[in-house]
Amino acid sequence: MSQPPDQVDAVIVGQGLAGTSLAWCFLRRGARILVIDRAEPFTASRVAPGLITPITGKRLKRSWQWTEFWPAARDFYRSLEITTETQFLHLRPALRLFLSAAEREQFQQQLEQGEFAGLEVQDIAPNSLPGLAAPWGGFEMQPAGNLNVAAFLQASAKVFSADAHRWEGTLAYDQIDLETRTIRIAGHSVQTTHLIFCEGWKGSQNPWLRQVPFRPAKGELLRVHIPGWSEQRTVHAGKWLAPVTTDQYWAGSTYEWNQLDCSPTEQGRSDILHGIDRFLVKPAQILEHVAGVRPAVSDSHPVIGRHPEIPWFGFLNGLGTKGVLHAPLMAQRLCELLLEGTEPPPEVSLSRW
Ligand SMILES: Cc1cc2nc3c(=O)[nH]c(=O)nc-3n(C[C@H](O)[C@H](O)[C@H](O)COP(=O)(O)OP(=O)(O)OC[C@H]3O[C@@H](n4cnc5c(N)ncnc54)[C@H](O)[C@@H]3O)c2cc1C
Repeated sequence: MSQPPDQVDAVIVGQGLAGTSLAWCFLRRGARILVIDRAEPFTASRVAPGLITPITGKRLKRSWQWTEFWPAARDFYRSLEITTETQFLHLRPALRLFLSAAEREQFQQQLEQGEFAGLEVQDIAPNSLPGLAAPWGGFEMQPAGNLNVAAFLQASAKVFSADAHRWEGTLAYDQIDLETRTIRIAGHSVQTTHLIFCEGWKGSQNPWLRQVPFRPAKGELLRVHIPGWSEQRTVHAGKWLAPVTTDQYWAGSTYEWNQLDCSPTEQGRSDILHGIDRFLVKPAQILEHVAGVRPAVSDSHPVIGRHPEIPWFGFLNGLGTKGVLHAPLMAQRLCELLLEGTEPPPEVSLSRW
């Protein structure tokens, strides 16, 4: 962009999954926006394989508010595939292998109690999957798949940049003038009605978000080549393997709450390799090793809202481990709050602290 605009309806700080989804929601309502992103090579959104998994966790529960989040996410990404003429949402079944006989039993009980209503769930018999050790079997679930997050961000950035809605660089907090509702970038003042922070885990250092109990978690991933294995469904069994191309997979992931940076570690590499070794019969060759930090908060729910004393400041954060599923509906709810005054549900509202 040669020069930022003088006046906009919303400045959005950060173009990860949060900022990108929000920018599209504003644009679709005809708002004038400016997205600022410093294009760091390793962020949660840039490294994430973007898995969408309806049944997750050790307790094999349906993902929180799946029936609200999933249709909103699916429709949002599908419509943007048309707008940007780029494919990024890939749907295919996912597998979950049982880790014990007790887990299979627990799953059966939940199935009988209707826990998975609305999902397609199919039992998989023990040791019936080629190349996988699955002594207790598992199940296949649908809908599932992944968003190619990098492609989504890139296609969106292209549109934002072409229409002069995007500026590459850092917005420092001392570049914000609270009196005049302006920000100063590239020696230029931009006046805005809303300033919305979508900074990912760096939001934990935002002086206007001190009330939020952030709990960012670093995660590492390996891109691996598995000669002679061609499973095209994501396999979850503690660690997971997700297809990239016919014989390349992302393998993940790790959780680390103290060392918050984007540097891959020997410990991370070894945790992932040992984890996939438990269920993968063939050896995996490492092609790439990356890390990012998930923007999580203590109750694991997203955070949307405006600042209690500076109402022109908005926030979209706390996407945690499920950014792909949660970002579209949270962006829509934040737009409704800022543009129409509709309060978001209390369980995702910033005002819960
Ligand atoms: C290893 C790993 C695996 C994951 N796997 C999945 C998965 O399979 N499925 C899933 O749904 N989720 C997954 N996630 C979680 C998902 O990546 C996050 O929930 C989501 O990407 C968070 O998006 P965000 O926009 O809030 O933050 P970020 O992606 O961190 O984006 C924030 C952006 O803001 C920019 N920024 C911050 N401050 C400023 C500033 N002052 N000025 C300019 N720019 C600024 C940053 O550079 C960045 O581009 C994973 C995360 C990790 C780390």
